[in-house]
Amino acid sequence: MNHRFSPLFVSHGAPTIVIENSPTRDFLRQLGKNSGQPKGIVCVSAHWTTAEPRVTMHPHPETMYDFGGFPDELYSLTYPAPGDPVLAERVLALLQSSGITGDKDMSRGFDHGAWTPLMLMYPDADIPVIQLSVQPHLGPAHHLAMGRALQPLLDEGVLILGSGSATHNLRDFFGSTLDAAPLSYAQEFAGWLTKAIVEGRTDELLDYEKRAPQALRNHPTPEHFLPIFVPMGAGVNGKLLHDAYSYGFLNMAAYQW
Ligand code: ZN
Repeated sequence: MNHRFSPLFVSHGAPTIVIENSPTRDFLRQLGKNSGQPKGIVCVSAHWTTAEPRVTMHPHPETMYDFGGFPDELYSLTYPAPGDPVLAERVLALLQSSGITGDKDMSRGFDHGAWTPLMLMYPDADIPVIQLSVQPHLGPAHHLAMGRALQPLLDEGVLILGSGSATHNLRDFFGSTLDAAPLSYAQEFAGWLTKAIVEGRTDELLDYEKRAPQALRNHPTPEHFLPIFVPMGAGVNGKLLHDAYSYGFLNMAAYQW
């Protein structure tokens, strides 16, 4: 019988998370060690948005440097984990059986929303990884439904990993420092989020734009929040694994279901 991996959501922060000391870097390293080795990973990253769901099919995805203005050192890092076309086909089939039509992407590599947390969690890059894209215009319920559709993977030793950010208003990035004090509007939203997840108030989470305090200020666009709904839909009994802030405005929370 396969070990069951509880679905996870992690906040990936800035790409420099892999080269700068922070509590979240330490947390992600420990999380991988504590979690054990899944047979494969389905990663839903905020940095791949498409009109309809897509999965990566490439057997050896390249490491994408989909950011600008960061230290040169980042561009020398690679995450050479293999892809897994069979797992990608399985994901498409499970989505299809829930009435969600997706498609294959034959060439795409790993964006930094996927490879930066994975490099910390699984530095040996020996676990096959596929990415599943985000559809910003289809909203939370669609992403929750994708998570529900993928539940059978939990019995197949596969880790479902959402990678985004609990809060994400980049207007406050410039001029800030990694260890800046948390901003109150981010704390308000993050506090609401954790309580709603732990109490299982899924209906309110789906309606976060109206129900959560400072929702649009923390997520002016939804792509960094929507990945949370996939592991939420796949699992049960949400809990907070990690809580910290980067640059004052980024809540770095991680959740497990
Ligand atoms: Zn990001």
